Amino acid sequence: MIKLSKIRSEYKSTYRTAVIAFVLICLVMSILCMQYYNKLQNTLKEENSGYMQEISTQMSTNVNKNIIDNFSVLGTIGTVLQSSNVVSFSQLETVVLEQQKYWNYQKVMLIDENGVAFDYEGKTVSLNNDEYLQNAIVDRKPSMSSSQVIDGKDCIVFAIPLNGVVIEGNKILALAASYDLSSFDKILAMTAFEGRGYAHIVRADGTVVIRSSSKNASQTGYNVLNSLKNSQIKDNKTMADVQVDIANGKSGQIEYVLDDTHEYMTYTPLDMEEWSLLTFVPVSVVNAKSELLLQVTLILCGFITLAFSLLIVFLIISFYRNKRKLENIAYVDIVTGGYTIQRFYEIAHETLKKSTDIQYALVYINIEKFKVLNEEFGRDACDNVLQGIENGIGASLNANECMGRLYADNFCVLIEYKNEKLLAPRLEQWYKSCADDIKLRGFAWLPLIMEFGVYVIDNNAMGMPYIVDRAKLALTETTKELRGKLRYAIYNEDLRRHLLREKYLEDMMENALDNKEFQVYLQPKFFTQSEKIGGAEALVRWESALDGMIYPDEFIPMFEKNGFIITLDLWVFELVCKTISKWINAGIEPIKISVNCSRLHLKNPDFLDRYCDLQTKYNIPPKYIEFEITETAVFEDVSYLTETIKKIHSMGFGCSMDDFGSGYSSLNLIQNIPVDTLKLDKVFFHTEEKNLLRTESIVGSVISMSKALSMQTVAEGVEELAQVNMLKKLGCDYIQGYYFAKPMPIGEFEKLAYNHIIEDVGESE
Ligand code: C2E
Ligand code: CA
Ligand code: CA
Repeated sequence: MIKLSKIRSEYKSTYRTAVIAFVLICLVMSILCMQYYNKLQNTLKEENSGYMQEISTQMSTNVNKNIIDNFSVLGTIGTVLQSSNVVSFSQLETVVLEQQKYWNYQKVMLIDENGVAFDYEGKTVSLNNDEYLQNAIVDRKPSMSSSQVIDGKDCIVFAIPLNGVVIEGNKILALAASYDLSSFDKILAMTAFEGRGYAHIVRADGTVVIRSSSKNASQTGYNVLNSLKNSQIKDNKTMADVQVDIANGKSGQIEYVLDDTHEYMTYTPLDMEEWSLLTFVPVSVVNAKSELLLQVTLILCGFITLAFSLLIVFLIISFYRNKRKLENIAYVDIVTGGYTIQRFYEIAHETLKKSTDIQYALVYINIEKFKVLNEEFGRDACDNVLQGIENGIGASLNANECMGRLYADNFCVLIEYKNEKLLAPRLEQWYKSCADDIKLRGFAWLPLIMEFGVYVIDNNAMGMPYIVDRAKLALTETTKELRGKLRYAIYNEDLRRHLLREKYLEDMMENALDNKEFQVYLQPKFFTQSEKIGGAEALVRWESALDGMIYPDEFIPMFEKNGFIITLDLWVFELVCKTISKWINAGIEPIKISVNCSRLHLKNPDFLDRYCDLQTKYNIPPKYIEFEITETAVFEDVSYLTETIKKIHSMGFGCSMDDFGSGYSSLNLIQNIPVDTLKLDKVFFHTEEKNLLRTESIVGSVISMSKALSMQTVAEGVEELAQVNMLKKLGCDYIQGYYFAKPMPIGEFEKLAYNHIIEDVGESE
């Protein structure tokens, strides 16, 4: 069957969708997260860089301030010296000692025109006679030395020009002060970045002026920039660019890697001409905090992505689950566990649409008297039986076939069809599996009778309900029996045409009666011996304005199904009453007319009342009217029928049994039924065998038995002289047949029976 593979593929597609959604969401979220991460990383980098610049600037400000302070203190000392007319070192000592509390120089020195330095005691001090001294002496500009060792201490020397000071014959041209470098350490030390940063002061060419004393400072040579020449720089810059920047007094920042060192270097120009401050911070220290932040962000992003994707996957799966649940409600028959009819229609329709090379048939299954089973064994038990049918038949279907339950005990099965020869054993096998299942459940409900209506589908595009209708229609036709327990019929077009015609007539019948399309014909009954008219039967005709003459064999069975026969019979009866009344009024002895009385009337115990009303209305003596009741009606309930016939008699009407011999009636039964007349059916005279002798013996025995029961006999359907002669010999009372006359319009009958048409002189209406 189609069921399992279908469900499996539905599951597969659900999970495929879920996985695709999961991957897509992860991908999109990852991209978004990465973008966010990069943005954050850049922002943090910028922020860090800004922070480092800020620290550098702050530091350079401090350095500048320190230098300015030193120069200004030195300037003050110079002014004091120039104004105090000091001429000897001993005088100088007094002044210096007095002033000393205002400065924190290591040593204050006087420089003569030759660049020789004296301390205030007049001792010479050895100084590197560098450019800076020349600046002060010759160029008369304040200037500063690089670091140098004086009295065993690292210092730098500030120098300013002096005017007109001569001490003990030495022409003093500059004042200098050595400044302990360790005092700069405080300014160059960095508390930020866990104290891991450090700073150098360098000249424009990169040579160190003041080197950081921090133990974290990486070892460089005399020229810092040269030492970094081989480093890798990460910011689209080369060391040469940096050197140019520094030489031009610009500020900037680089990230460089050299051997094990990975640091940021920020360079900031100082006020001192051609000096720059270089600050260094290890990248790991700067990034430590932001890295943590980034890691947390990354983890959070990952977590959110995962949670979001899982949520979506959960939503997709639960959506499909709910959908499947709803589908189950709509698609799964709760009684059988198989398909509902809607689902069956869908799948069958799909199958038919797809296949062009396979011939399919739809089998409609009905179980006879399932209602009885329901009442006897209860609903639950019968639901189990239906389940058994679904399972039994379902198991025998191939991959292209399917079944569903229409309602109650009616199933539809779509099968591949080759020919009837192969179909019949299949139906038998289905029957067997169902019967076995019922037996297994221990129901004493056998024999099971199943009906299969088969429609070999000739138009795959037809709507499923129509296809099912045709399969169902097949069952209204004569069915074929297999072993007496299952019946089947295959739909054909004639059947459909017949049903369409029936429907057509049904739609027209009411109007036809109003439009006087129905007519009553009379067929005379002849005395067998004298061959004179001794009675007549009223037979209805439908002369349709559109379709011409329609005979009762076509419409009476249908009217019996839809109940219209009741109206029509009464209409015929009324016309018969009118006719008899007309004859009476014309002063003619009326011929007895028999009317057919459908078995449908008999179901109503009071049906005679309406006949009586009409008879009274037209004031007809009842002896002129006889009811014909068909044999099949007779044997349904003998005692009830007997009562009815008695009632007919009590009202004065005659009563005959129609079509005797056509069904199962037996002579035995007839003796208990008090009819006046027995009408021998046409079958006696229309047999295939032309053996008159055999007919004679059967008809003879019926006639003699009738005589014994004081019943009269009418032979119907007599068409040949030989039959007439035989009936004369056997003593049959009347003959009604084409041999003498066919049914005819009333006027014609009157001409035949009374030699002229009888005008209505109309005493009654
Ligand atoms: P039925 O009651 O057995 O009527 C006799 C039928 O046999 C009539 O057919 C008549 O035309 C036909 N018949 C008479 N003699 C011969 C003959 O020699 N050869 C052949 N082949 N046929 C002969 P009709 O008129 O077509 O009626 C058919 C059936 O329709 C009637 O069978 C009766 O059962 C039913 N029917 C007709 N009119 C009425 C009616 O008003 N009410 C009811 N309930 N049934 C009616
Ligand atoms: Ca009849
Ligand atoms: Ca008859």
